[in-house]
Amino acid sequence: MTLKIGVIGTGAIGEDHIRRCMQALSGAEIVAVTDVNLDRAREVAEKYAPRAKVPADGEALIALPEVEAVIVTSWGGTHARYVLEAIRHRKYVFCEKPLATTAEDCLKIVEAEAAHGKRLVQVGFMRPYDSGYRALKALIDKGEIGEVLMIHAAHRNQRVGANYKTDMGITDTLVHELDVFRWMLGDDYVSAQVIFPRRSGKAMEHMRDPQIVLLETKKGIRIDVEIFVNCQYGYDIKCAVVGELGEASLPMPPAVELRKSAALSTEIMTDWKERFIAAYDVEVQDFINGVRAGALNGATSWDGYCASVAADACVRAQETGQIEKIEMTPRPALYGG
Ligand code: NAP
Repeated sequence: MTLKIGVIGTGAIGEDHIRRCMQALSGAEIVAVTDVNLDRAREVAEKYAPRAKVPADGEALIALPEVEAVIVTSWGGTHARYVLEAIRHRKYVFCEKPLATTAEDCLKIVEAEAAHGKRLVQVGFMRPYDSGYRALKALIDKGEIGEVLMIHAAHRNQRVGANYKTDMGITDTLVHELDVFRWMLGDDYVSAQVIFPRRSGKAMEHMRDPQIVLLETKKGIRIDVEIFVNCQYGYDIKCAVVGELGEASLPMPPAVELRKSAALSTEIMTDWKERFIAAYDVEVQDFINGVRAGALNGATSWDGYCASVAADACVRAQETGQIEKIEMTPRPALYGG
């Protein structure tokens, strides 16, 4: 049976997920789409899912009897409301990151889902679906580099838009590392500190860029992540894991090596959508398969909550310059607590 999905939010990633469900993946079709800008929703429906309904808002879309699962790709501040509504209707929901913009709202979702007694929510953290991170985790799990001691990582964007602020370096950018390292290490964070090196003259007036985030985990692993969102040269994600026996690094995406004019070069991507395009495909296909099988696999509401608590501590650390504690409430049994 084809899974019937409704999508709330038809901006950049909403349109992309609609395209992938209708053209690249199998087992699902988009039967409804909506957006605060209904003209935009109609335009996207026309392009990829001409038979889809366009209800007036997210709540109306969730209530449609034919909608079996929901994808939430609206602005982050609206996520909690739609995810809670989907849980209330006992419908599966894939919510793009962040699960909610406050840890408190993430916890409300965790509690609502735990009260339901079964997973209904998958959070759109796609890096665990990236083949490079999967290979890195497999190697760590096999013990190839012994116990992990440190991670040195960098998240660089070519440039960011005028609305981007320093705290978004954490809530929009670092949040992917916060999730993928928890998954890769099977560990939780206990503290965070943020250091600001010399400011890049290429950053907007109101921004402090780059920044270095220092994390400590329960096992005592130390992680440094450079966030540099106006690096000018490309979209570049780096991660080197240092263990007792060696170092393992995230592979670069495949690129042609060019030997020319006495130089050896490879292209570096500039668009995040391209860098993780395969991971998005595998992630959304896994959601579709998970719903059809009645068992989701991807990031849980609890993972969304943990990322949010850690991000809050990092934002506090930006402001205080101090080491900030990261403390979670007890993990409910539904998530292995
Ligand atoms: P975007 O292009 O601004 O799209 C968001 C869309 O949602 C816009 O069309 C917006 O309309 C609409 N919207 C806002 N409030 C709404 C509401 N109450 N109900 C329905 N629609 C509403 O943003 P985006 O880049 O697609 O990002 C959307 C979400 O995906 C964000 O949470 C973002 O963090 C996440 N995301 C995740 C990844 C990833 O790597 N996993 C990548 C990109 C984005 P207006 O423009 O009129 O406000």
